[in-house]
Amino acid sequence: MEQNERVRCLIIGSGPAGYTAAIYASRANLAPVLYEGLQPGGQLTTTTDIENFPGYPDGISGFDMMEDLKKQASRFGTDIRRGIATAADFSKKPYRITIEGEKIIEADTVIISTGASAKYLGLPDEDKYAGMGVSACATCDGFFYRKKVVAVVGGGDTACEEAIYLSHLASKVYLIVRKNYLRASEIMQKRVKENHNIEILFETQAEGLFGSNGVEGVHLVKGLGSSHEERFNLPIDGFFLAIGHKPNTDIFKDFLKLDDNGYIITNPHTTETNIPGVFAAGDVADPIYRQAITAAASGCKAAIDAERYLTNQNL
Ligand code: NDP
Repeated sequence: MEQNERVRCLIIGSGPAGYTAAIYASRANLAPVLYEGLQPGGQLTTTTDIENFPGYPDGISGFDMMEDLKKQASRFGTDIRRGIATAADFSKKPYRITIEGEKIIEADTVIISTGASAKYLGLPDEDKYAGMGVSACATCDGFFYRKKVVAVVGGGDTACEEAIYLSHLASKVYLIVRKNYLRASEIMQKRVKENHNIEILFETQAEGLFGSNGVEGVHLVKGLGSSHEERFNLPIDGFFLAIGHKPNTDIFKDFLKLDDNGYIITNPHTTETNIPGVFAAGDVADPIYRQAITAAASGCKAAIDAERYLTNQNL
């Protein structure tokens, strides 16, 4: 049987928080091991251009930025591995993290930067048509909808960004918004409203999908519960979800304090969780800002917190 491996600093997740933690932890000689997780490079690999990360006046693609961060972490010696953490035991030290249900890593410190995953509406049809017209990532799947009609659900920045991206490929994009306004930032709202290829359907919700060979349309309801409530079908070829994210904390929930939405609660001004030596960085602990730059910053903090913890514990 394979022996457990002991590490000083285990980083779980490979978004901007994980890689920044890795850069700092390697430079502090913590010999970090980083597991990339379900989505190597994290959510940014599925975004288009990042225009708001300081230092890139012309923007940079999410994929390129994550490749650069990975190279930078490697350069200082981070041991970057493919694999998903499938269980955690923080009941005693060293902490034990199971990788892919088999390998056990014993760690003096753990930095959790597992991010968040796209939410779905919860309609049975989303499963039925998975990979057949339903997607939560326009940049991954938009290519398949060239000159076709698509709908994007959501009214935040993600939905606007996805709608704009798809508007360059699809012949028509419907933005399905449940309220009578967009929650997105002013600049994104303006871009969507000025885009002739995008039509916003306010006060509208999806109730189901139909189609015999993949998605052929969506059942919609407008003004649900109001006097003008109206149901209608809209023919579409692709259905994109952009309604927010859920933090990836399921395997930690028996040990860590989480808020009502599952985000890890950290001690004020630090990345410390309720378990000494376990730190959280990035979107997994951030229901408020959720930006690449704030995730990277908290990854830096987590590595510094881990280094100080190890020093104080003489580890
Ligand atoms: P948000 O939480 O901001 O928006 C989610 C949207 O989905 C809202 O319009 C919400 O509606 C809608 N929604 C949620 N649940 C449902 C449902 N069950 N049915 C229908 N609609 C639903 O998430 P985002 O992912 O858009 O953004 C998250 C954060 O990331 C924000 O802080 C955002 O600013 C940031 N971001 C920044 C970008 C950038 O700067 N380039 C790009 C993308 C994201 P309602 O308003 O009614 O609640």
